Amino acid sequence: MENDASSYFSESYSSARQCFLEAAADLRGLHRSYSLPQDNSLTFDEITIGANKPTSVLFVNSGLHGAELLAGSAIQNKMLKHPIMHALPEGLAVVFGHALNPYGCYYGRRVNENNVDLNRNFLDWEQIIPSPHALNARLHSIINPDVWNWKESLKGVDEIVQEHGVGQLQAALQRGQYIDPNGIFYGGAQSEWSNDIFIEMVDRHKSVTGHIVLIDIHTGLGGRGQGTILSGHKTALGREWWGLDVPSEDKKPITAEGITGTIGCGFRQSVNPKATTMSVCLEFGTVKLFEAFEALAYDNWVHAHNRPENEVLKANNMMCESFSPRDKVWKRDVVNRGEEVIVQTIEGLSSVM
Ligand SMILES: [Zn+2]
Repeated sequence: MENDASSYFSESYSSARQCFLEAAADLRGLHRSYSLPQDNSLTFDEITIGANKPTSVLFVNSGLHGAELLAGSAIQNKMLKHPIMHALPEGLAVVFGHALNPYGCYYGRRVNENNVDLNRNFLDWEQIIPSPHALNARLHSIINPDVWNWKESLKGVDEIVQEHGVGQLQAALQRGQYIDPNGIFYGGAQSEWSNDIFIEMVDRHKSVTGHIVLIDIHTGLGGRGQGTILSGHKTALGREWWGLDVPSEDKKPITAEGITGTIGCGFRQSVNPKATTMSVCLEFGTVKLFEAFEALAYDNWVHAHNRPENEVLKANNMMCESFSPRDKVWKRDVVNRGEEVIVQTIEGLSSVM
């Protein structure tokens, strides 16, 4: 009998991990586990299905932003039970990375244990780190005030939009910042544990010179339940595989440009330069942009100001609404679209191998 799509979803990090490992065991996938040094009970899990010595590899990753885990985990769960996993083209390995930021997954936060947004952490730390956007200091004092008052914060944000336009606001927010460890979109001061283990996982396939693809699953941007493929670099082959749904460079409804230190940057620098490489973010819309923004800002504020438990819980609920909705329609749309994109990718890969 066909499973109800929402049945692929778990309610928590712990049950998501259990479902993931059970589904992988059925397929006899090769399992590696990495424990977070600060808490051994929290792990990143890697399952490899397919070729032992692959010529091409597809990575499907979840939970870089912890609060976004359950969507990615549900898609992985569905794919591990998909018939195509028993019929992979010869030479292809599919690597599922589960809960890259296990602290954030467990506590329902975007950031990791050091308040780092991991999607700003994949820098070359030997180089000069990017300077903040010109509006960064002003914006951050508005959204991380001494006393929480979101209405007032929004007035300040609106003034920035009036003076500089919404594009500059978005740029100031999403570029990330490397100066305030208590601030939002903080990229860190060194390579984080999740960054290191992800690169270790990719490095294991350094000899692969065929096709090497990363699909990193996220939530929070775009139309509700829609899964948009975002990429900071050209994806001609991706357009061929994923059809018209991939926005052309000039018609992206939401953009990933101007962000530094993304997982895609780290990925592309780690693979064999001879390989044909593609990294994309599969991003599922949830709530309106400003609702998600409020949840992120409030979650940052309660932790930055050591607020009491009831406020932490309130932030947690807001994060859940904004990044991991519980309604069945959303869940169905997410697993169906996730399945579609991954199947298209495997079929695309098999056509070029
Ligand atoms: Zn995300």
